This record gives sequence, C-alpha cells and structure tokens, in this order.
Amino acid sequence: MGRLALERLPSASAAAAASATASPSAAAAAASGAIFACASCGAHLAPREALVSDNFTGRTGPALLVRFVLNSVLGAAEARVLRSGAHVVCDIFCACCGEALGWHYLRAPGASEEYKVGASVLERARVRDEVVGGAEDRD
Ligand SMILES: [Zn+2]
Repeated sequence: MGRLALERLPSASAAAAASATASPSAAAAAASGAIFACASCGAHLAPREALVSDNFTGRTGPALLVRFVLNSVLGAAEARVLRSGAHVVCDIFCACCGEALGWHYLRAPGASEEYKVGASVLERARVRDEVVGGAEDRD
C-alpha cells in the first residue's frame, strides 16, 4: 500500500504542553498513555479511555467496545443478526495494513442496544496494548 499520514495519539509530554487548551477528557486520555494499536502493524486505534466495555464477543472471541477508532476504514453497511438482535453494521479495517479489526454500529434493534450506535467493536485478538509517550519510540 502507499504511504499514509497516520494519526498518532499524543504523547504524555505533548499533552502536558497542550493542557491549557485541551479539554479535560483529552488531557486525561493522554495522561495515561495507554492505547490500543493494530496487532499487525502497530497503527494507533484508540486511547484506553475510549473503551466502553471489554465484555463483548467478536468473530474471533473476546472483543472491546470503543467510542471511536482512528486510522480505520469502513466497509459497506449491511444488516447483521448478532447475539443481541438485528443490527446494521459495517466492518472496520486498519487503514495502514488492511487487517479486519471488527465492526462499527450504525443501527441497533431497540432502546436497550442504542448505546452501541456510533461505537465500534474491536476484536481483542486483532489489537494490542501499547503505551505512548515514553522516553523513546521503540520499533
Ligand atoms: Zn494495521
């Protein structure tokens, strides 16, 4: 694939410098430095603070529900029957390496499932935990 300008989550030091203008939640997100990254290529996907639930089940097993996913591209919307009912979802792929990461909720079957709309499921097996803002970037 061609070169991509990947979004990088801010390091703790950069966030500290920007804290005067950053929202409290953004500052808090960067303060921990813990993120989820693509297990294949390391692209940053979401800060730990974007986690809504770690009690979801994906195609490959345990999965995470997060409020948003960076560096991702969406597949076509499709109706899909999940354990909690008929949803409209689209698959999510890593924008860097193309790995299938999970899916994004577009429509949920009822009020009790409505909280998932706009959020995304990341397969636990497809993401790894990383910490940003350390002394150096490691390869
Ligand atoms: Zn990737």
